[in-house]
Amino acid sequence: MAELSAAGGTKPTESTVVSVQGLKKSFGKTEVLKDVSFDVSQGQVLSILGPSGSGKTTMLRCINALERPDSGVISVDGISLDYGQGKPRFRDVLRQRRHTAMVFQHYNLFKNKTVLHNVTEGLTVVQRKKSEEADAIARDALEAVGMTGFEDRYPSHLSGGQQQRVSIARALALNPSVILFDEPTSALDPERVNEVLKTMKDIAARGVTMIVVTHEIRFARAVSDTVIFMDCGRIVEHGAPQQVIDHPQTERLQEFLNSLA
Ligand code: ADP
Repeated sequence: MAELSAAGGTKPTESTVVSVQGLKKSFGKTEVLKDVSFDVSQGQVLSILGPSGSGKTTMLRCINALERPDSGVISVDGISLDYGQGKPRFRDVLRQRRHTAMVFQHYNLFKNKTVLHNVTEGLTVVQRKKSEEADAIARDALEAVGMTGFEDRYPSHLSGGQQQRVSIARALALNPSVILFDEPTSALDPERVNEVLKTMKDIAARGVTMIVVTHEIRFARAVSDTVIFMDCGRIVEHGAPQQVIDHPQTERLQEFLNSLA
């Protein structure tokens, strides 16, 4: 686990996979991220909690290089982009992005492709794997999320929970350094939430490094190594789940947890 420094921030250790330092991002005059810093170590699960509009999705999108931060340094598996030094080279942005995979709230599967094809697409197009190898990797990933037997179905013939499990398989198949989950269960019917949370727990148990934006407090408590609470573009609390969730130090977090209860 990343060590806590005297200043309360973290300093990268050898096993740091994702390091975010001094991240700032504004949209027009709205400051959405105001100096956000944290590290995630190999195999760790970081859950990010916070009210709507606190900057959680923007932060994930910065790590996935879908948004360009105004300043700050983001490192993923040793590939570091310093946004304070101007626009990074596109080549470096792509290199870093290939170490991440994202699972979206609305699954974002290709509707005109089968389940198997959805999972092989990134392997053949981005990673340039041969189709036989891509098929084998995709089948393994589908097995890991309990979707063996669904390879030839189309997304419209699956429940929301099943579609999300396919999108987790798609991320897993890429063998990224970190999987970023953006509220992966919030678009699901309540009865489908648990199957996706269980899948995520299984994936975490395989030692996959994960950053999860979620409102699922029970998941955050049971599965995360570290929890961050964000409010108004800042990290307000950061620590072990038992500390952050069960012993909130700020009124803001207490109110937020009460609002979910
Ligand atoms: P959260 O994920 O915590 O709900 P977001 O990161 O989605 O928060 O949004 C944080 C703030 O940034 C919100 O006020 C939102 O309206 C604003 N925002 C997000 N994306 C954009 C964008 N592309 N253009 C303008 N404002 C944006």
